[in-house]
Amino acid sequence: MRAFTLAALPFLISLNGCGGPDGPTEEHNSRGRGVLLVTIDTTRADRIGAYGYGGGGTDTIDRLAEEGILFEQALSTAPITLPAHASLLTGVYPSAHGLHDNGIFKLSEEGTPIAEVLRRHGFRTGAFVGSFILDRRYGLDQGFEVYDGPRQRMDTTVSERPAGRVVDRAIQWIDTLDLGDDYFGWIHFYDPHLPWTPPDLYRLRFDHPYDAEIAYCDEELGRLLAHLEKRGLMDELTVIVTADHGEDMDDHGEANHGVFLYQSTMHVPLIVSGSLVQKAAGTRVSRPVSLVSLPATLLRLLGIAADEMPDMVRLPLLDGDGATMEPATTAPLYLETYLPYYSHRWHPYLGLVSGKHKFIRGKGVELYDLVTDPQESNNLAAVRPEVVKGLERELQALLAEYSDLAWVVDRALEEGDRQALEALGYTGGAAGGDPFNRSLPDPHERVAGQKELNRARSLMIQANLMATPSTPGSQDPAKLERGRELLLQAQAILEDLTRDHAADPLLRLSLGEVKFGLGDHAGALPYFEQALAEQPDSVSTLFSLGVCYVQTGKTERALKTVRKAQSLDPKFSQAYMFLAWHHRENGNYGKAAWWMQALLDELEPGDPSLRQVEHDLALLERLMKQHQQAPTPPD
Ligand SMILES: [Zn+2]
Repeated sequence: MRAFTLAALPFLISLNGCGGPDGPTEEHNSRGRGVLLVTIDTTRADRIGAYGYGGGGTDTIDRLAEEGILFEQALSTAPITLPAHASLLTGVYPSAHGLHDNGIFKLSEEGTPIAEVLRRHGFRTGAFVGSFILDRRYGLDQGFEVYDGPRQRMDTTVSERPAGRVVDRAIQWIDTLDLGDDYFGWIHFYDPHLPWTPPDLYRLRFDHPYDAEIAYCDEELGRLLAHLEKRGLMDELTVIVTADHGEDMDDHGEANHGVFLYQSTMHVPLIVSGSLVQKAAGTRVSRPVSLVSLPATLLRLLGIAADEMPDMVRLPLLDGDGATMEPATTAPLYLETYLPYYSHRWHPYLGLVSGKHKFIRGKGVELYDLVTDPQESNNLAAVRPEVVKGLERELQALLAEYSDLAWVVDRALEEGDRQALEALGYTGGAAGGDPFNRSLPDPHERVAGQKELNRARSLMIQANLMATPSTPGSQDPAKLERGRELLLQAQAILEDLTRDHAADPLLRLSLGEVKFGLGDHAGALPYFEQALAEQPDSVSTLFSLGVCYVQTGKTERALKTVRKAQSLDPKFSQAYMFLAWHHRENGNYGKAAWWMQALLDELEPGDPSLRQVEHDLALLERLMKQHQQAPTPPD
């Protein structure tokens, strides 16, 4: 009956033992069905023990694989966090859901993610994400009664929440479940994504910090499962472990992921384990499968009609009820990356895997035999023109079958945002132009420059750490000077890159950030204005721009811009502090106090800035009294 075993057996035995003669059966029947989807960001299949890796620490995942089904050749749909997650939650390829990159696209309300269907069927639903890239503003929260993730922070790194904290929050939610509840939980760990900063305990145990990050996630997953066991929620639980994409780690000249469609970033772990697939325990599936198949698979296993997700790709991973493994179809699997275009203004890539072949079309074409050449080092396109022709036809057919759905929303073009931006004086069209314009650069020729850009950005992160005092208010002049030197180095790299990469949006944003860090607000301003035209709802860019405006005497614009940042992200503390500071400087203590109180209301218990905010508010209240002012809401 049990799907898999963990350490807390005595507790379970005592639970089952108190059921009387018919107890265990009744109890079994009254248990709700649980599905836990675990996505570990940026995790290559070949860094997991169950996939043959010897240098890591993935005991929990390996045990799930032993007791479940392991897909040896699982592929993501795009090597980018938001598009890939949108596919695995909606069952729709990026060519159809239209979320082609992080930050600028959003899933429409009309999309049907799996959580929405399960909630309709009475499941409790909770999502716990580790990165701001999956913030609810991008639309993946649909169908989740709880959607919990980190708030936006102001620095060059993306706001992330470590695995331990993600699991803490998930456990709080699990503790609200009753034994009879059906439930669907999505857990997203962001740790293996750069920067690699594992807890010291893990850093010391592994040769590579990437392995340490994965091991940390694995142990936190183990802690979560142990908690479910303790709560008596394991019997009817099914766990799916996968990743949104891998990491190139220089296999194909890319430091990270997103630019290319090679296996280093497309091949991900996929393990399905637990009660719904018990009959197939221990199976390894060797044919290629796509993560786009997860919703169709889950609906089939749960006995829910596929037409409840009408747009979904109907290629379940498993045939029948989970006991038989061979698929009825070996349809080609679609791949894409538009990150080269949206982040760098380079030519994008489309591709597919069909049987043993991978076909990639960028400015040129590439063909690989994944069986004899899994490293994709030998491009066969020139010697197998007939295969290329056939696969090009298959790609066209895939694109025709899975093209833009009516509900696609380009976030950058949302009417409310557009109006707000026009009010601010921005008329730039984000994401305009033709991605397949032949004059766009070939990413292969530009990826070395991207590495230099990454080097500059990591210098900026180090400089940021230097500028952050260990205790509030204590700045170490030597550290500040060192931080300034790092920023000057970064600036030199970036300015050097503008010769060949002047149109690169990330380069322009980085130049704005580095000048901002050096206190050159007038110099930073045009870069932030351009960056905002690319990503009109970027809260951090809006805020930086607001600071540049106020520092260059454009106060009205500054206030409008920061208010926009605050309204887009009501949990963005710096916007409140800026507005409070501005009003205080102008003697409007009542307005300043209103913003400080609003911030206090947004802060969660235990927030590290809580005491400082309370202290500032008390100060403002004294000033209000002295000047006979009352708290005043904004105009
Ligand atoms: Zn990712």
